[in-house]
Amino acid sequence: MYAQVAVDIPLFTALTYAIPDELDGLIEPGHLVQVPFRNRSKTGLVVSVDETLEDESIASKVRDIVDLVDTEPLLDERGVQFLKFIADYYLAPIGQVARLALPSFVRLEGMKHYRLVDGASSATVHDDDLKAAAAILEESDEPVAVKDIKERIKGMTFRRLSDLETAGFVEVSYEEKDARVKVRTEKFYQVVDPPGEDDRIGSKQARILEMLEGEESVSLTDIRESISSPYSSLSGLEERGFIRVWEEEVYRDPFEQEPVRKPEEHVLTLDQQQALQAIGTARQANSFQGFVLHGVTGSGKTEVYVRAIRAEIEQGNRALVLLPEIALTPQFVAVFRGHFGEKIAVLHSGLTPAEKFDQWRRIKRDEVEIVIGARSALFAPLTNLGIIVVDEEHDTSFKQGEGPRYHARDMALVRGKLENARVVLGSATPSLESYHNAKSGRLKYLPMPDRVADRPMPEVDIVDLRDNDGAPPGPSDVLSYQLVGAVQDTLAEEMQAILFLNRRGFSPCVICHACGHVFECVNCDVSLTYHRRQESLRCHHCDYSIRMPESCPECGDQKINRRGTGTEKLEGHLNELFPRANIARLDRDTSGGKNLRRTIKAFRHGEIDLLVGTQMVTKGHDFPGVITVGVIMADMSLNFPDFRAAERTFQLLTQVAGRAGRGEDPGRVYIQTYNPEHYSLQAAREHDFASFSERELALRRELAYPPFGHLIAIKFEAASEGRCIQAARDYATAARRVLRQDEKLGQSVFMLGPAMAPLSRLKGKSRWQILLKSRSRADVRKLAIAMLNGVAHFEPNKSQHRDVRIVVDVDPVNML
Ligand code: ADP
Ligand code: ZN
Repeated sequence: MYAQVAVDIPLFTALTYAIPDELDGLIEPGHLVQVPFRNRSKTGLVVSVDETLEDESIASKVRDIVDLVDTEPLLDERGVQFLKFIADYYLAPIGQVARLALPSFVRLEGMKHYRLVDGASSATVHDDDLKAAAAILEESDEPVAVKDIKERIKGMTFRRLSDLETAGFVEVSYEEKDARVKVRTEKFYQVVDPPGEDDRIGSKQARILEMLEGEESVSLTDIRESISSPYSSLSGLEERGFIRVWEEEVYRDPFEQEPVRKPEEHVLTLDQQQALQAIGTARQANSFQGFVLHGVTGSGKTEVYVRAIRAEIEQGNRALVLLPEIALTPQFVAVFRGHFGEKIAVLHSGLTPAEKFDQWRRIKRDEVEIVIGARSALFAPLTNLGIIVVDEEHDTSFKQGEGPRYHARDMALVRGKLENARVVLGSATPSLESYHNAKSGRLKYLPMPDRVADRPMPEVDIVDLRDNDGAPPGPSDVLSYQLVGAVQDTLAEEMQAILFLNRRGFSPCVICHACGHVFECVNCDVSLTYHRRQESLRCHHCDYSIRMPESCPECGDQKINRRGTGTEKLEGHLNELFPRANIARLDRDTSGGKNLRRTIKAFRHGEIDLLVGTQMVTKGHDFPGVITVGVIMADMSLNFPDFRAAERTFQLLTQVAGRAGRGEDPGRVYIQTYNPEHYSLQAAREHDFASFSERELALRRELAYPPFGHLIAIKFEAASEGRCIQAARDYATAARRVLRQDEKLGQSVFMLGPAMAPLSRLKGKSRWQILLKSRSRADVRKLAIAMLNGVAHFEPNKSQHRDVRIVVDVDPVNML
């Protein structure tokens, strides 16, 4: 018997190994095994088991599988099939797909630990080898890594040790080796004996005491929030016995802290009912069906998800919910916890590999009914999967940007089909791909064009930034009188406003007034952004930074111009204009995970009046107090060198606008622009998805861009520009050869490039690309494969281009 094993190396096919007699009958697809590779041992995933070799001539070279790492398979047959499909579709190495799907599988053997169960001891084990293993466990109070046991007993294997599991002698857990070190603690303070009249204390100390007064405990983090460098004051207070301090372990899971939201029961709108009916019909037939739930912001999509999921669970099925950028959505999880209690697993990037694997095992043992997570949760080993929800399906973060570049939304449909499940793609602004699929009948279209409770859509004004005969449109280049007036009114009514500007920092372009020298990143083809707080110039791609120079390095002149406005400068403007308002900024500079959640929470509770921010403020938050939304400059995303620029702009504007008027009060949106006539903006003003998509789809049809055409990009990246160009040319030559030989392909597939990528230098690397485009998916794929074979791409050891990173991106989303 032979097994095909996917190993985490950049090889496209699985490797063939023989199954030795002692493992005969034990190995199935989905098992983790140890195999010899070159002169090392590697962990791999069995993807198939066959009785014969496809190519008998290699029989003498085939080596044996060494060991079975875990007697329980990681994936079932369908799970393995799913991985194979992805590797094939995305032209990606199977081992790397497996690694993406099972993030920890490479290290799994190191994480597995045993502990003797109560009553078991080396005396109760009869087999000598295993007795020795039990003795090792006996000596330790802590669980012992199985790998360590194996290493301490000569000739021991994982497979043999697993008999301890089967016989019930040990309990299994998965832990990081140094998990204990990683426990996070936090200091907490409490007043024990407040100072009396005669005790002299400093003013900072007084402020601290004021904060602590009447509280059970206040964390150091919270104190630091309002009082800078409190350390010496705190220790002074503690030494004098006024307060006490202790440490507590704090939870790493941010979602555990979010209070569960009490479930609201609503009378469904007609649209919600119809959507649920359609999903219900597919459920009753137990058949695969994909849906596009096109609900405007505030139409109650979550309610549809919740009810559709509940119906599946009642039928004994399980559910998977995929969200973009999980860190932003503890609210979403809280709503689900409110409805479904604890039978939810949340997979997010904050988990350690061991914690991830613990969640994985909970899921695999059917201990949870719902899995919520970002992109990679797509691979969660749920059985009886009844429904997959992809919320904000248009979001580009569903496309993996590294390694195998799979699209979680597209693959959700594939998995749904494999599992006979319902797949609901929800969005206020569906991607044109999904919308087109719905219109052409491949997916079912479920429209929800109205907000719940007769709430009106916000009114949208387009503000022309040009109109002033060269004078600024308002108090500054980026703030029109119209928008400033609206913010003023909003504050007067004690309501809230959001101002969106997709550019962090102070000034995005720094230029010498005398010689015109522009400060650019040394590694990337972009200008540096001035950050005032740090007095530095930074690159937003690679984080290269220098101190803001006093004079121009080219000509020595001291007049250095800071052009354009980022969120930091905008916040400054607003502070001057509205000194009494509470203004906060939300961008990558201000908002590491915890701060982000804190700011969002404070805003939701009305402690902040004005929120300035980048993309982060546009995502599905529900802020009932927001009545005004301002888009500072809509042109920024319009001018992107990407055929999806108009679509992105429309989505962005619609999503930002959707933050307004979600409560009782109607909202108003101001879009400032230099391109007021652009159809993306006009359509966003009218909330007219239909006319936008009609126009945009017509353009795409003409140019054979998605959804009418299919793209495969080959991207080249190297430190040496010459090597990069050479590689791109060699690939292009291979493609041209195929196109000449195969007339049909020649007529169907276009090759664009090789050309310099729009971002031609990034992180010190030159970048080139080739784009293959065709109205036929089969043809573009055929050409890509023939071309890649022509340059031995699938056999990396034969490649001429080892010093060039070459990435094949099927259905590319990032065109830079
Ligand atoms: P979306 O995700 O479509 O933007 P949400 O699901 O966040 O909208 O719903 C917006 C608000 O409307 C939420 O506060 C939700 O509780 C409420 N809601 C949902 N369905 C109904 C309904 N049928 N009647 C009244 N309110 C509803
Ligand atoms: Zn850079």
